[in-house]
This record gives sequence, structure tokens and C-alpha cells, in this order.
Amino acid sequence: MRPARRAFVAAAVLLPLCLAGTLVWLLNRAGGEQTPAPRPPAPTASAPDAPAPSGAPEAEAPLRGAVVVLDPGHNPGNAEHPDELARLVDAGNHRKPCDTAGTATDGGYPEAEFTLAVARAARDRLEELGATVVLTQDADRPFGPCVDERAAIGNEAGADAVVSVHADGAGPGQRGFHVILPARVRQGTADTRGITAPSRALGTHLVAAFTAATGSEPARYLGPRTAASGLDVRDDLAGLNLSAVPKVFLECGNMRDPDDAALLTDPRWRDRAGRGVADGVAAFLADRG
Ligand code: ZN
Repeated sequence: MRPARRAFVAAAVLLPLCLAGTLVWLLNRAGGEQTPAPRPPAPTASAPDAPAPSGAPEAEAPLRGAVVVLDPGHNPGNAEHPDELARLVDAGNHRKPCDTAGTATDGGYPEAEFTLAVARAARDRLEELGATVVLTQDADRPFGPCVDERAAIGNEAGADAVVSVHADGAGPGQRGFHVILPARVRQGTADTRGITAPSRALGTHLVAAFTAATGSEPARYLGPRTAASGLDVRDDLAGLNLSAVPKVFLECGNMRDPDDAALLTDPRWRDRAGRGVADGVAAFLADRG
């Protein structure tokens, strides 16, 4: 074959091969772009709204393994069950009625609706952080539970922390929130000796986080100690007396004061309040290690 002819044949054979090769390369390249792109940096706990997918690393779900019980005070159906609510139950160092209907704003917004809204917001946030959250009631029963059963739910869950959510019914002009800690009680079925210290730690974190989340201040109508610390101590609450796990009550504000009521009836404020509860619990659990 003459050189010129050989060159022509070579070109005729090689050019299609080259074109085919280029086509394959292009197809591979196009296909390659359909494969998953490199993952962006994983969200961390510092990204406050990032959900924690299941199986997420520890940093994304810092509360994984923790059990938190939230106790929305009262129940929207309580008012319809006065006889059942009047039944006396064990409160540790005395007996008291099963539960009450709770208070309401002057405009008729019931405490039992408020406590559910705040507890649900707190639950959402705690679950994002990986915690297992149990509500003592979610308006999923006609009334109650009674106060002794509310304590039992926290105990049986082996909760790492329990927060009972309420709003107060003090007089107009009295504003602010406070956290109620268990007194040291050993009487009847009550024995709070094991929970007073961790409950105080939980309450202290809750005061700080609730203040940061809502901008509210501790109530002044319970004396200078509570005004300064946001903390009160009581020995008459079954939910605290019968608890075997760290537990506090949170009175988020005063429903009977018009300025506080304006906050408590605002859904955005309730979300912030729930966020404060969750942040306080998370800080307590992180501190405890
Ligand atoms: Zn209440």
C-alpha cells in the first residue's frame, strides 16, 4: 500500500474510533454528573434548626439516649369532669384532689391549652436534638391524669428530666415566670432526698434558658428570693413529692395579668417558651454529662 493510501485508511479507521471514544468519554462524563455530588458538611448542633436524622452522629443528636418527660398541666377536658377531679389521691405527705381545671386569662384562654402548646413546642425541639420525649397527656384522654399518676409516668419512664408546664393565676399587676423545685420531703410516700440537688440544677438551667428565649423576668410576687433567682421551693405538690427523678414545675407567666396574658396568648411567644424549656433541659443534660 502506498504511504498516501495507508494514511487514508488509517484515518478512515482511526477517526471513527476516536469519535466513538470521545462519545463514550462524553457519555461517561454526563453519567458521572448524575452520581451524587460530594455531601455538603453535615449540620452540627450549632445549626439550631437542623433536624437530627436517624442514625446521625452524636454531634447532631446530642440528647440521643436521654428520656425527657414533659407534663402539660391540667387537661382541656378537666372542666367537664368535676367529680373525677375531686377524688382524693396520694400527694406524698398529704392527700389532695386528682387535679384541677387550671386557670385562664380574663379573655377565656385556658391554661390547659397553653400548657399543651408549650409542651408540644418543647417536645419538637428536644426530639430534633435526639431525645426520647414522653408527654403525660396530649389531650388524648377525657381528663387528667391525676397528679399522682403524672409523677408515676416520669418515674416509670426512668426520665432523665421532667418539666411540668403551667401558667399562674395570680392577681393583675403581678407578672413574670418562676420555677418550682421540690422541697426536701420524707413523709408518707414522699422521699425527695435523691432529687432535690439535680432538680435545683435543672431549675437553674431552666431559668436561664427561659429568660434568654422569652425575655421574661422572674416573678416578683413571691418574695425577693424568687425575684432574684426565678426559683421557688414547695412541699405541697404531688408531682414533686412523688417524683423519683429530677423534676421541676415551670409557671410560665400570670394568666390573670393583661400584659402577661398578651404574651401567653401569642403563638409565637409560646413557641419561644417551648424553645426555652427545651434549651434548659438540654443544658442540664449536657452539664450532667
Ligand atoms: Zn396549673
